[in-house]
Amino acid sequence: MPSRANIWALKSLGVEWVISVSAVGSLRENIAPRDLVIPDQLFDRTKSRVNSFYEGGVVVHCSFAEPFCPTLSSLLLESARELGDVKVHQGGTYVCMEGPLFSTKAESNVYRKLEMDIIGMTALPEAKLAREAELCYAIIACATDYDCWYESEETVSVDMVIGNLSANIENAKRILQKVAQKLPADRHAQECTCEHALASTIMTAPALIPAEAKEKYNLLIGRYIS
Ligand SMILES: [Zn+2]
Repeated sequence: MPSRANIWALKSLGVEWVISVSAVGSLRENIAPRDLVIPDQLFDRTKSRVNSFYEGGVVVHCSFAEPFCPTLSSLLLESARELGDVKVHQGGTYVCMEGPLFSTKAESNVYRKLEMDIIGMTALPEAKLAREAELCYAIIACATDYDCWYESEETVSVDMVIGNLSANIENAKRILQKVAQKLPADRHAQECTCEHALASTIMTAPALIPAEAKEKYNLLIGRYIS
């Protein structure tokens, strides 16, 4: 998936809020298939993806300690709870693996020991790129199955997985309808600092940034270096 092109396109269009709907495996007994999770942490286990916009001419180190927008995450949580008929988990760590193959049992058990809660393949690098583009970004994670650590007597069938997937898609659509009506018109008034994520992160002195890099990254850093 061309995450960089997608986030760049959203930024170019003036988008401020980005919601990702992500199918995940559960690493916890209490997060059952069809449950929803609004994660608050990420663990990066990807290895061959381009995870930054900046490739030279300028050095940028963004804070990523809190990888998701707290304002958008709260709105997603509130909207998900309003559905009333779906279990929603507040917070949790999403481990993003490289894929496309799923985990081995050893990996799955290690993630559980490290207190990860859900596992997926899509949150990164888009969360990092959204931060570099100063977009508010949060995730609705929909559990489709228990990851391979889970020993169950129930046989997983294609029908079951498809059934969970369709229910998750339906629930995600209902949340998006609700949250769309709650998005603040003005990001300035919000508690999150996503729109200023690049302030004090550009390590290269503006005078030393080559004209080519200034032009290339103007959409992202133009207002900080002019
Ligand atoms: Zn934000």
